[in-house]
Amino acid sequence: MSKIVVVGSLNFDTSIHVPHLPAKGETIIASHLSLHHGGKGANQAVAIARLGGQVSFIGAVGNDENGHQLINGLKKAGVDTTGIAIKDNAHTGMAFVCVAHSGENNIIVYPGTNYRITKEDIDRNRPLITDADYCLLQLEIPFEIVRYVIGICHEAKVKVVLNPAPVSADFDDRILAHVDYILPNETELAMMVGESVTMENIGKLASSLLAKGCGHAIVTLGENGSFLVDPVRQEHFPAVKVKAVDTTAAGDSFIGAFTYRLASGDRIDEAIRFATKAAAITVTRHGAQDALPSLEEVKNWLV
Ligand code: ADP
Repeated sequence: MSKIVVVGSLNFDTSIHVPHLPAKGETIIASHLSLHHGGKGANQAVAIARLGGQVSFIGAVGNDENGHQLINGLKKAGVDTTGIAIKDNAHTGMAFVCVAHSGENNIIVYPGTNYRITKEDIDRNRPLITDADYCLLQLEIPFEIVRYVIGICHEAKVKVVLNPAPVSADFDDRILAHVDYILPNETELAMMVGESVTMENIGKLASSLLAKGCGHAIVTLGENGSFLVDPVRQEHFPAVKVKAVDTTAAGDSFIGAFTYRLASGDRIDEAIRFATKAAAITVTRHGAQDALPSLEEVKNWLV
């Protein structure tokens, strides 16, 4: 079986449910609180492991209760966690999500140890990268580290899958020369190219990423599915029509499933169709990692 390595973030998420989002200076009482394991890197690694993929993780947590819980959660899901550094004197990354009964939310992310990953941490785990067939990255860790890992992959001929989320000011599109597959959502594509995305211009905008050296671009479009641009085609893949109850981690589910299928030898269009189905199942359930489907669930799911 092909090996996948994820180099990315882990967060401990706290969701607080409130009648309305607090105004400036207002104190309100929450109706309930829920705690979840998150971080785009960890979610995508769990998506792969739950489907049966062989996946290892490189990242960092603090030497605190949250960090140990996150590592145990990944282990339980079947992810190899030997590449996770435990840092003293720093907190594990956290996300604070405030959800109003209307569905409106605001989110504060404290990156904590996700921003403490160093080149030495990467070097210590270099074999996990060079022995892998695919390396999956997001942008919730320092951009310098992402660039460094992509350089190692290029030398070792490891295929790179990049989910450019979130796009920040230090994003440097020269890395695209060594990215085989890029998977932004609509907002991230718009930020990368500096233009808003429509169904009319999406082919042109995604092609501009290929012009910078990237092999294939797949733009996810929420309930409108996804759009593939590669050197030989431009193709829209509609989403599966479902009753969505919670779209958290839809993108992570799609990207994890897509990478898993590519690593299993699927053609790109087959991998997209499988990922579309996996993500549709995810949005019919509440939660992030809890909502990610197993291989049997995707195979047996009748639309
Ligand atoms: P992100 O979570 O990164 O913003 P998207 O919202 O684009 O990502 O969703 C990723 C994929 O999940 C989509 O390409 C689609 O296949 C699937 N998806 C998202 N929302 C829905 C929905 N309401 N119904 C069916 N599929 C969905």
